[in-house]
Amino acid sequence: MIEILLFAVIGLCVGSFLNVVIIRVPKGESIAFPSSHCLSCNTPLKWYHNIPLFSWLILQGKCSFCGTKISIQYPIVELTTMAIFVVAILKSETLFGACISATLFTMLLALSVIDLKYKAVPDSISLPALIVSLFMHDFLYSLNGALLLAGGFTLLRMFVSWIIKKEAMGEADIIIAAIIGATLGVELGLSAIYIAALISLPAFLIVSKKGYELPFIPFLTLGLFITWCAQTQILKILEMIL
Ligand SMILES: [Zn+2]
Repeated sequence: MIEILLFAVIGLCVGSFLNVVIIRVPKGESIAFPSSHCLSCNTPLKWYHNIPLFSWLILQGKCSFCGTKISIQYPIVELTTMAIFVVAILKSETLFGACISATLFTMLLALSVIDLKYKAVPDSISLPALIVSLFMHDFLYSLNGALLLAGGFTLLRMFVSWIIKKEAMGEADIIIAAIIGATLGVELGLSAIYIAALISLPAFLIVSKKGYELPFIPFLTLGLFITWCAQTQILKILEMIL
């Protein structure tokens, strides 16, 4: 019980840091300097403005200096990271496993939000995430899954690009496919991609009419997370079908 509470608190703090990463990494800014400041009036924040979640609630989502609205993204990212940390400790058998999976899914959350906001996937986050994912299982098993899914995705990409006569999917999607393979192995990995495609379909239909291009990383991440959480159940379903 103490462990879960501890992971929840660490998750909130990591989520708070993640907001800084999400804002600064795509702009190529340092994540350490300058210290936190209001993005509108640039006033440096006091320590009590930096308490995850609570500061946003107490300030009622506004900068205490200039009154500019603070994006709802902050508390959402903090709460989601907290949820990731709690699920990680509940689902993992060892403390090491919990730390690895919490780190991996937190990095994927950062990539998803950056992809949604900026349509960019920084290698400075995706490649370290790939390395972390190789420790989700026995190293060789993970490496094998990563190579197979990355290879499969590359072939699929070439095929789809050839059909639609333009570049389909980004290179970043292949790195994420490798992460999925490393985390889940081939069989469950393919289920994760299938689930991602299923969830993305309605969203795709809605936004494609507006000419908005849908980023796929958030859906792949969601598919991976759902499959990872429910792997026993999904394996049972696969056994029934295959
Ligand atoms: Zn301000």
